[in-house]
Amino acid sequence: MKFGGTSVGKPERMHQVSQLITADDESKIVVLSALSGTTNNLVEIGNAMATNNKAEAKQLIEKLENHYKDFVTQLLKTESGLQSAGRVLQEHFEFLYIILRISFSESLNRDILAQGELLSTKLFSIYLTENNIDHALLPALEFMTIDAYDEPQVGAIKVKLAQQLKQHSDKKLFITQGYICRNARGEVDNLKRGGSDYSASLIAAAINASVCEIWTDIDGMHNNDPRIVNKTFAIEQLSFEEAAELAYFGAKILHPASIWPAQFYNVPVRLLNTMEPSAKGTLIAEKAGSVGVKAVAAKDGITAIRVKSSRMLLAYGFLRKVFEVFEKYRTSIDMITTSEVAVSVTIDNDVNLKEIIKELEPFGTVEIDTNHTIVSIVGNEIAETKDVMKKLFDAIEPIPVRMVSYGGSRHNVSLLINRSYKDQTLQLLNAGLFGL
Ligand code: ADP
Ligand code: ASP
Ligand code: MG
Repeated sequence: MKFGGTSVGKPERMHQVSQLITADDESKIVVLSALSGTTNNLVEIGNAMATNNKAEAKQLIEKLENHYKDFVTQLLKTESGLQSAGRVLQEHFEFLYIILRISFSESLNRDILAQGELLSTKLFSIYLTENNIDHALLPALEFMTIDAYDEPQVGAIKVKLAQQLKQHSDKKLFITQGYICRNARGEVDNLKRGGSDYSASLIAAAINASVCEIWTDIDGMHNNDPRIVNKTFAIEQLSFEEAAELAYFGAKILHPASIWPAQFYNVPVRLLNTMEPSAKGTLIAEKAGSVGVKAVAAKDGITAIRVKSSRMLLAYGFLRKVFEVFEKYRTSIDMITTSEVAVSVTIDNDVNLKEIIKELEPFGTVEIDTNHTIVSIVGNEIAETKDVMKKLFDAIEPIPVRMVSYGGSRHNVSLLINRSYKDQTLQLLNAGLFGL
């Protein structure tokens, strides 16, 4: 069971989480995020330190410390609980104050970012102890590891997690941190923003869990982005493929990589609402449940690269040469379209864009469009579903489309548009595809 930031962000929510995790006596691992807002605050603290703005960093730390002091006085009742929590806050805030005096580095920044999940789990554990709920706190930094390419390996996690669990063979309830991990250099690292979902799915895969429940602040995966579109509804069932595409193409409810471990180890995933536990939520499993368009998602920050050749460079071997450049810079390509004289690809990581352009230039003219958005229409067998393409293009008639990707998989059509058209496109698709 994984609980996100809002699900643990208030003392009364933590009370509610304790009820949800003790509703039956099946053994379970509970993965917690940081309290809502904390990771953003830690990012700000890190940014202030990176720009050597120590006074601002100090102020931000003090503000966060006060927030936690208030939080524990509302969360806990007993003298011993409050004392334990006081010691936890002292330990973690002392660490933050100490690093104000050390020179900043990226690895130190990752230590800063890890404080949120360490705090939430320790405070929740004290709350459980106060309420005589038997459990063990498992340190994620002892079992959640990533390799030299920042990839988690379920096999390695499985072995280390089993060792941790063995130390508490008398327990049935385990609490651990989402998001944080240790990298191949042994440093504290993380699974990127929103990574607690990924932690949960990796753990579920590693222990071969019967289910991986993602408890959040909404009643499941909706058919469109509820932050942008007014009328949306929860989807009852998605296949792993559909959910993976939605997560990857921007549905914030799931971390982009969080589906593959569950899919690979065939652990069903349930998206559930902490604020409304009886709501059905969304089941993600092998079967899609139904055919046709299920949902629309959007992913920002996309750069499109077009390589155009006056000669017939699309002869055999051309695409390989283009792809090799991206491989060399470990930059993955999301969309691709080709014509006789040009190829367009999109990337979401332009850290190495300059070098990539330089290496592509010998192949032809290179054009770059930044600040684009991929809008993905996801469903089961949509490529074979009648009328989908007609409805789609009728719906977005006023929108200029830079690229279209269709037929790559049977459950996705993707469009590349300028970011400025995103909200309008999502709304038009809601009307045209779902009649909302
Ligand atoms: P948590 O802190 O529990 O991980 P997140 O904020 O990461 O929660 O994810 C839940 C949020 O994702 C929802 O409140 C909603 O605003 C947003 N969201 C974006 N797209 C979707 C979608 N297609 N379905 C449901 N929620 C979505
Ligand atoms: N606390 C982390 C974040 O805000 C991880 C998560 O919430 O999933 O990104
Ligand atoms: Mg999240």
